[in-house]
Amino acid sequence: MLNKKQIKNWLYRFGYDTDYANSPLSKAICDEQFLGEAKSRTAEYSAVFEEHRQASTPKLPLEIEFRKRAHADRSLLGNKGYGLAQMSYLGFPIPPGFTITTDGCRNYYDQGQTLAETIWDQVVAEIKLLEKATGKQFGSAPFPLLLSVRSGAKTSMPGMMDTLLNLGLNDETTELLGHATQDARFAYDSYRRFIEMYSSIIMGIDHHLFVEVVEEMKAAENVHHEAGLGLGALHAVIDRYKKIVWAHTGTTYPQDVFEQLRKAIVAIFASWNGPRAVTYRTLNHINDQAGTAVTIQSMVFGNRGTDSLTGVLFTRNPSTGEPTLFGEYLINAQGEELVSGLVTPRQITRQGRQAIQDKQASLEEAYPVVFNELRHLAMELESHFKEMQDIEYTVEQGKLWLLQTRNGKRSAKAAVKIAVDMVCEGKIDAEEAVQRIDYNQIEQLLHATLDAHQSIEILTHGLPAAPGVASGVIVCAPEEVAALSKTENVILVRGETSPDDIGSMAKAAGILTTKGGMTAHAAVVARGMGKPCICGARGITIDMENRLLLIGQTKLPMGSYVTIDGTTGAVIKGKVATVQQKPFPEFVTFMGLVDQLKRMEVRANAETVQDATVALSFGIAGIGLCRTEHMFFNVDDMRLFRKMILMSDATARLNSLRELLVVQKRDFKALFQTLHGLPITVRLLDPPLHEFLPHHPKEIAELALQLGCPLDEVAGRIEELDEVNPMLGHRGARLAITFPEMYAMQVQALFEAALEVEQVALEIMLPLVFDAKEVIFIKNIIETVHQKTAPHIPYKVGVMIELPRAALQAATIAPLVDFFSIGTNDLTQTTLGISRDDGAKFLDSYQQKGLLQDDPFVTLDREGVGALIHMAVVEGRSANPNLKIGICGEHGGDPRSIEFFESIGIDYISCSPYRVAIAKLAAAKAMRFTDVRR
Ligand code: ADP
Ligand code: MG
Ligand code: MG
Repeated sequence: MLNKKQIKNWLYRFGYDTDYANSPLSKAICDEQFLGEAKSRTAEYSAVFEEHRQASTPKLPLEIEFRKRAHADRSLLGNKGYGLAQMSYLGFPIPPGFTITTDGCRNYYDQGQTLAETIWDQVVAEIKLLEKATGKQFGSAPFPLLLSVRSGAKTSMPGMMDTLLNLGLNDETTELLGHATQDARFAYDSYRRFIEMYSSIIMGIDHHLFVEVVEEMKAAENVHHEAGLGLGALHAVIDRYKKIVWAHTGTTYPQDVFEQLRKAIVAIFASWNGPRAVTYRTLNHINDQAGTAVTIQSMVFGNRGTDSLTGVLFTRNPSTGEPTLFGEYLINAQGEELVSGLVTPRQITRQGRQAIQDKQASLEEAYPVVFNELRHLAMELESHFKEMQDIEYTVEQGKLWLLQTRNGKRSAKAAVKIAVDMVCEGKIDAEEAVQRIDYNQIEQLLHATLDAHQSIEILTHGLPAAPGVASGVIVCAPEEVAALSKTENVILVRGETSPDDIGSMAKAAGILTTKGGMTAHAAVVARGMGKPCICGARGITIDMENRLLLIGQTKLPMGSYVTIDGTTGAVIKGKVATVQQKPFPEFVTFMGLVDQLKRMEVRANAETVQDATVALSFGIAGIGLCRTEHMFFNVDDMRLFRKMILMSDATARLNSLRELLVVQKRDFKALFQTLHGLPITVRLLDPPLHEFLPHHPKEIAELALQLGCPLDEVAGRIEELDEVNPMLGHRGARLAITFPEMYAMQVQALFEAALEVEQVALEIMLPLVFDAKEVIFIKNIIETVHQKTAPHIPYKVGVMIELPRAALQAATIAPLVDFFSIGTNDLTQTTLGISRDDGAKFLDSYQQKGLLQDDPFVTLDREGVGALIHMAVVEGRSANPNLKIGICGEHGGDPRSIEFFESIGIDYISCSPYRVAIAKLAAAKAMRFTDVRR
């Protein structure tokens, strides 16, 4: 016999346990004495709140165990179900219902895409409970129960899988609903919505066909909003809807309400593998195994007259991070209208309304009681989750219901501000704040804004939906974006966007819509992608036929340039200049937290004063790699350098080296002065000499003329220096073995420069060594010059570990030097035997075929190259306990590689100046894996 416990529970129930409306909490919130900021809540209020929360713990005995366990399991309930379960746990006003867990979705696919009877039986039983709780009947008199059927995976995917509202209506129940509510108009309005959604979502009929009917009817009746359609008009709309369904499918939508429900559940499970959802998951690297949950909930109605409304709300401003409520609402409407962006919603707060100079009254002004309650509940939710919440709510005849809460998407700037503010408010600690910021958010913050010192032509304004500036050519057809975006920046201009546009939005530089509000699809997605976006630019007409945009008197053909400023909402003619954003106070504070948390030093790779200055502005510990050959890149210096290389006899070469000494010294001195005593690791000449020489006959002739040398001599010398495999040829320390005078010159320049500045922490680095004897040989060159030039100037010597043999010899090399700098680029090339320049041709195939997880030149190959590094670290340190070990090379700026470097106790990483902030953040985040803080 089956024991109850052995029956698998597929469902999670919510919204039953408290009568919120009559609770002391509800009274407390509405009570005058608790008005004011939720932050400053009184002890008395806290006690009421806690009592309420305890009263709302599950009381239905059968599932208590399951419910206690499941209510905190996001992967089981999906993000939406999880939010509802949590609100249920807090005893907040949510319409009762239940969630079919993601196990149900996996089961559906395991069973060859069928809904198991055991699951269905539980659903039917649950409906009975819902009927009891609501006093309504599913599919019958006196008051028909209507349901909302909602999808929701663990990771929230805005708009990815559709929600069906008003399920349970048919010709008969609509009549009954009209009777029960004494409002036939409301009943038929709901029925119209149901047919529309059921037919498009479940039966696959193009949604626009229905929208057209309503638009025509609005025009015929001369009303602006759907709410203006009377009962007669609604009947006519429904008739035409039914004809559309019949014409397209040769059948009708089900009149049997249980059939409606069953098909809806199946459709949601099926939508998990629909193209939109798959695209979204691919773009966001979401694991395909997870599946979606289905939430079935009793309906509440925002479309029951002017004391009913629906809206969304963020507990903080998602663009700026300001700690003020931000959101929109629509009177006498249901939620999907708001998300669709087809109508202009009203603002929640007076402040928000004033900010965009909206004339329509805000919720705060028009419905102060509801606003106050909503504000309190929203702030409680934020405190509960310790995260900015994105909340959906509906008011039915004056009564507030919460329908969804989740962590809100936000701009990069808002993310940083909110994280820092929450640390200050004591809601989270610094570790948590640092974990909450993504690398691409930091990247966005370092992006450019409009240069104020130029005249620009503003064509029109829209709503500032996602910050940042983007210039690009106008494209109105999403299918044209892919091809054009290969060569040009593209601004995608649309009426509104839908989930089908995700692919082209990802390729566009910016998004501009003529309809919709700040929480429309385009806005939400753009903020998530970090793209500048303007919504609701109503001054723009898209003329598809003539392929142009009409803005006032201006006609802009597709393909012409516009600039959008998503921070201000300005649409600007042409391409415009931008400037780097100044760090805002919270960003500085945030980077301060990062600096406190990280253990590794972060340095920059720089060889010019300009790069060093940028790097210093990001707060570096020094320069970790100064590539001296990069210092000859200007024309004059390059000419001198070439001359030196081309001199085949030693005396002539020494003469040119003397000339070079002057420019090297000048450049080193400027760098030293810029650094004000911060350490600088100067790498002596590394690349093969022929890399500096021209190879084209015409250029060779020019060079000969320039140097006043016979052409055949020059050509002959170039040929002499030519190598079959220069990467493995005469380069790095090997240059010093054959031409010691070159390194001697560089070292002399360094010491002479050091003598002329107040302070410098000089570190001289030898590239491409593989043996201790090489190191001793070159150290002798250095020390000889040192003694002659500046014996009292201290300096350090180190080597690059960039050949496997050097790593293997770590124990013999380490005692000779002060530091190792791991050159991960060359070490990857030489360990894998793959040239970085040629690898691109086949490394892709390795990744596609699953043979390599990552491009080893981007993310360090831990098992191979990483193992060598680890060995060098361990052996190097045991031979020389004072050895300092750093990383230079691309991997020094790659977060996943940095995680590894932290784990093996590297002392510092060095990366390009613009990566410094990201490298620091990665170093700080990596601390979560380190048990012992050193
Ligand atoms: P999405 O994933 O697009 O946010 P939701 O499931 O949240 O989908 O549903 C979209 C909208 O439908 C909600 O914002 C809400 O306004 C409305 N809605 C969902 N469930 C209900 C319900 N039980 N009663 C009334 N409206 C609902
Ligand atoms: Mg929602
Ligand atoms: Mg190298």
